[in-house]
Amino acid sequence: MHATGRQSLAGRTAADGAPLHYERHRPEQTTLYRLVQQHAASFIAHTEASTGAELPRFIKDEFDAFLECGILAHGFLRLRCGECGDDKLLAFSCKRRGFCPSCGARRMSQTAAHLVDHVIPHVPVRQWVLSLPIPLRVLLAAQPELVTPVLQVVQRVVTRHLLAGAGLKADEGQGGAVTLIQRFGSAANLNIHLHCLVLDGVYRCDADSAPAFIEADAPTDDELHALLRTVITRLMKMLTRRGVLVEDTGQTYLAEPDADGEEARTLRPLQAAAVTYRIAFGPRAGQKMLTLRGAMPREATARQPLCADIDGFSLHAAVRVEAHDRKRLEQLCRYITRPALSDERVQLNAAGQVDLKLKTPWRDGTTHLVMSPLEFMQRLAALVPRPRLHLIRFHGVLAPNAKLRPLVVPQAPQVQEQGTEASAAAECEVETLQPRPNRISWARLLKRVFDIDMQHCPNCGAGELKIIAAILERPVIEKILTHLGLDPQPPPRGRAREAGQD
Ligand SMILES: [Zn+2]
Ligand SMILES: [Zn+2]
Repeated sequence: MHATGRQSLAGRTAADGAPLHYERHRPEQTTLYRLVQQHAASFIAHTEASTGAELPRFIKDEFDAFLECGILAHGFLRLRCGECGDDKLLAFSCKRRGFCPSCGARRMSQTAAHLVDHVIPHVPVRQWVLSLPIPLRVLLAAQPELVTPVLQVVQRVVTRHLLAGAGLKADEGQGGAVTLIQRFGSAANLNIHLHCLVLDGVYRCDADSAPAFIEADAPTDDELHALLRTVITRLMKMLTRRGVLVEDTGQTYLAEPDADGEEARTLRPLQAAAVTYRIAFGPRAGQKMLTLRGAMPREATARQPLCADIDGFSLHAAVRVEAHDRKRLEQLCRYITRPALSDERVQLNAAGQVDLKLKTPWRDGTTHLVMSPLEFMQRLAALVPRPRLHLIRFHGVLAPNAKLRPLVVPQAPQVQEQGTEASAAAECEVETLQPRPNRISWARLLKRVFDIDMQHCPNCGAGELKIIAAILERPVIEKILTHLGLDPQPPPRGRAREAGQD
């Protein structure tokens, strides 16, 4: 939801005389919002003109939904405090997974809290990160259904290693893990990689007693190297068997993709551009992006412990969290579920170019990427995951149907179940734009905001908030917003312009 923030208009009264307390952040004032507002239509037109195919609906919807996210003029819920009678307006959120920073930040907080409170047992956890060579990143972006078998290979190899360490056979114990499929790198570039939070040990399952956890020793560098070799061999075998890799005279090639329709024609060049830092379309098509150097070049890091690199693959396993360090576990969960962008990182320079600040400077000292607004739109589009692609997966004892699951997950603390269910559902949920909002049920309306702290009125701190109305009809929206001295009109959208005009 968008009810926390800097703007406050306390002290006014609503049309019916109740005091109206109103605060929220203003997404329409961020640079990111203005860029999308002005350039999304041009981007869509350029992409479709240069590829001769229609951009997939789910990407266009993401841009539309982002432009409506948190904007009161598109409708809101009216909440009232039972104690002080304070009124509050709550704009709807887009709840999308591509690039909306505020929805991304809320999803991060909710998912991390959910994992720590309800999923990850009180045992040590090791983070295993697998990065892939660039051609395989492009492949997984274009064919996301391959992520599942890739993940299975990694899980099997790591679990077998942990079982062997505990001296158990495959049927004598079980591991457990949560994987976050992360789709971007620090430059909001498409970089699909896997963050697996693996329970650092295995559960021995005896028929009649509770499962006992056997802690693992840290892998040695040699073991890690050997594990990565096994992962690579099995991945290549699996991908070859599926026909996406072709072996020819001892070399492996990416199979020529079938021309699978319109979607592939527009998406592939966008994804390829976002992976290699090249620009997909427009006058600078194929060129490398300009970069800015600010900070001193960082020391080329010496070989790090527990980090294996082979042929463009890397496996990193140095981060471990102790059983009872739940705070650090939550930080780690937040880190791996963080959104691709934050508002602060997107700025415009004097020449009207987008200045994208990197999360961490590159080794060559690069601190920002500079690109045209159109190039930036291409990057945003490549970040949008396909609908129904689940980005969080549970394995072993943590799998949804695992018999041992209820015996090992943390016992739920006394919190509002409503919120946690909402966060559990958040990741899997696919929100669709509602063209006729006045027909939506209350349940659907509530799904369109993030879970709200209904227990604590932000004005008096004591009262409980109740939803008194959903304001969805233009005339009523206009009346209320005008009365409050707010802009009753949605921010205007830029129209598509010819290439070269921007
Ligand atoms: Zn949003
Ligand atoms: Zn109150």
